[in-house]
Amino acid sequence: MEFMFKRSYCGPVKLAVFDWAGTTVDYGCMAPAGAFVELFRRHGVEATIAQARGPMGMHKRDHIATMLSEPALAKLWQDKHGAAHTKDDIEALFQEFIPMQIEALPPYAKLIPGVAEVGEELRARGIKLGGTTGYNEEMMHICMEGAKAAGYAPDISIAGSMVPAGRPAPWMAVRCALELNVFPFESIVKIGDTVTDIQEGLNAGMWTIGITKTGNEVGLSQEEAEALPAAELEVLIRKAEAKLFEAGAHYVADGVADILPIIDEIGLRLSQGERP
Ligand SMILES: [Mg+2]
Repeated sequence: MEFMFKRSYCGPVKLAVFDWAGTTVDYGCMAPAGAFVELFRRHGVEATIAQARGPMGMHKRDHIATMLSEPALAKLWQDKHGAAHTKDDIEALFQEFIPMQIEALPPYAKLIPGVAEVGEELRARGIKLGGTTGYNEEMMHICMEGAKAAGYAPDISIAGSMVPAGRPAPWMAVRCALELNVFPFESIVKIGDTVTDIQEGLNAGMWTIGITKTGNEVGLSQEEAEALPAAELEVLIRKAEAKLFEAGAHYVADGVADILPIIDEIGLRLSQGERP
């Protein structure tokens, strides 16, 4: 046999799955970064903001475990506590983190400019909206309330605590598809500001868009970003872009406000039978 025929989806984009912090709310993903630094400080370990941002996007328990396994922080913990950290330490830190994060979160549940308009436009095109996050359900609901008040309310939102494993596993994005009865997965676009967001989408067989300027990798609040000289901001954006592309992102954008032309292009590529 000289030729083989393959079945390929050539329909439209049906679902956009958005991350929460750093993507749709909390410009710069400021809330968790600050909370992790404070959590470690309470236990005598001075973590830098960069160390706190490294594993961003993961379930918060996994985030704590990943920070503690970083050699520099592992050593600081060992020096301070006289022994290497244990599984019980991770669980205790996570339990301490939950109320801290919930208390600190409300002022950060602020919608990022342009998200409501893009959400509306996607809906007008018949595209459903989903949400996934490394936050637990209670934290996610704080984000949802803030976003809803500003005009953005996805059709479904799934937290790391609602699936067997958070990012980089694909289950949150897959569950959005399941609950909304959307398939095939190549009709779905995952949008997020961290490496683990991209991995979640790729592991689900979806298209992925990495978010730079409003997200964790640039790591500046809207005020800080606006105050920074344009050339310096550009350097940070390019660095974030390179990191997200390296993780396998199909596209990157400064923010959700800029994704509509990308959604158009994905639609075109799908119509030609391309897969993510
Ligand atoms: Mg995020």
